Amino acid sequence: MTTAKPRISLYNTLTRTKAPFEPMDAKNVRMYVCGPTVYDFAHIGNARPVIVFDVLFRLLRHVYGAEHVTYVRNITDVDDKINARALRDFPHLPLNEAIRRVTEKTEAQFLSDVKALGTLEPTVQPRATDNIEQMQTLISALLDRGHAYNANGEVLFRTRSMEDYGQLSGRNLEDNLAGARIAVEAHKEDPADFVLWKQSSETEPGWDSPWGRGRPGWHIECSAMSERYLGQTFDIHGGGLDLIFPHHENEIAQSRCAHGTHAMANVWMHNGFLQVEGQKMSKSLGNFVTINDLLETGAMGGRAWIGDVLRLAMLMTHYREPIDFSVRRLEEAEAKLLDWQRAAKGAEIADSDVPDASVVAELADDLNFHRASVALDFIAKKANRNEGNARHCLAATLKFLGFSLDSLLTSDEGWEAPAHIATAIAERLEALNSKDFARADAIRNELAEQGIALLDYKDENGQRATKWEVKR
Ligand code: AMP
Ligand code: ZN
Repeated sequence: MTTAKPRISLYNTLTRTKAPFEPMDAKNVRMYVCGPTVYDFAHIGNARPVIVFDVLFRLLRHVYGAEHVTYVRNITDVDDKINARALRDFPHLPLNEAIRRVTEKTEAQFLSDVKALGTLEPTVQPRATDNIEQMQTLISALLDRGHAYNANGEVLFRTRSMEDYGQLSGRNLEDNLAGARIAVEAHKEDPADFVLWKQSSETEPGWDSPWGRGRPGWHIECSAMSERYLGQTFDIHGGGLDLIFPHHENEIAQSRCAHGTHAMANVWMHNGFLQVEGQKMSKSLGNFVTINDLLETGAMGGRAWIGDVLRLAMLMTHYREPIDFSVRRLEEAEAKLLDWQRAAKGAEIADSDVPDASVVAELADDLNFHRASVALDFIAKKANRNEGNARHCLAATLKFLGFSLDSLLTSDEGWEAPAHIATAIAERLEALNSKDFARADAIRNELAEQGIALLDYKDENGQRATKWEVKR
């Protein structure tokens, strides 16, 4: 069966418009997304680009064919924040060994966190430290072309040498000057110039180079890794909007000036920011919520949440809008996913099954997940009425979107109970045992409102126990 594939439109930060997406080569659609700096657990804000660009990756694979899309997400494993963390956590170890411990542990944690969020593995996940040579080649090219200079032991990018520096962020060099709060560092020709290579002390991590033993600046890492795996110009570059300036602006400056090209990537996409319960996440406010906290401990709402629910909670808001991540949002996502999983229950799907065309068409419109979810609700309604192949179509579409089909379904049906039901049942049993019948009834009614029916019985030891089932 052939199905018409939709035309994808994407909002491009560079042109500030939404336009039809035209890959340079439909046989190899190429996307780069800035990945984590591996010094600490990833927080729920970091999960946003991971989930958003996973949806785009899935959409591109659907439209162009899975083998025709290359998605690169890097791992930044050389950074001064990593050095500081290594010194703090492993003061008794040599620095390079301490750094290795920090980055290995953090990278493994990141990979397991994002897997729990239902994301596909990117095609390539390069580490910065495996690409130092590529960075040095780029820096040499910039020096040769007069776009960089040596000063005070550093190699700096000469921003004045690029006529249209600042296009992505809409800043020009004069804005930068006016906004510069710190005194001009004396060795820079211009305050906007940024580091490509810096010297390392004997104890700091470093690599030999024509400019002495040193380490790369952050921006050059992404220019080198994207070139290696995607070429000098590629289709889509993504990340959170905090990266527009200076990180992405400087990636563009480096790549374009080193290669003499007009574009590094054709489409620049940025997800909006996430805050938690109405507040900016910060370590000092104590509302710094990691993905791992949400999956495993009661960091929000006093209970754990499954990855599927975190994923849906993230996607309920358009990727370019800010999100307020809250317990209420998680509860809404859980209820919605439970509805979908119930409606899809029993459908058997194969890898070759295709997602619903109306859902795909909504996503193709600059990833409009909200409208896609309305279309899913519609299919779920039909599935509940046993219409046509709606149940099967719903299941295939949920799978396409990265959701599992049974993560919230009941134990009686052979699936594991969602944590909040188990907690409520335990609380109610406690209430019954202490003859607090009003409290017990209140909990039963609360669950009934969510479509969960309780059935009390005595277990083999004569103890009071409760079974539950989903009312249909
Ligand atoms: P970092 O490790 O800080 O470089 O961030 C990794 C990715 O997470 C980048 O794409 C950031 O833009 C993104 N990011 C960081 N904090 C947030 C947040 N609060 N909301 C949304 N995205 C974020
Ligand atoms: Zn980057």
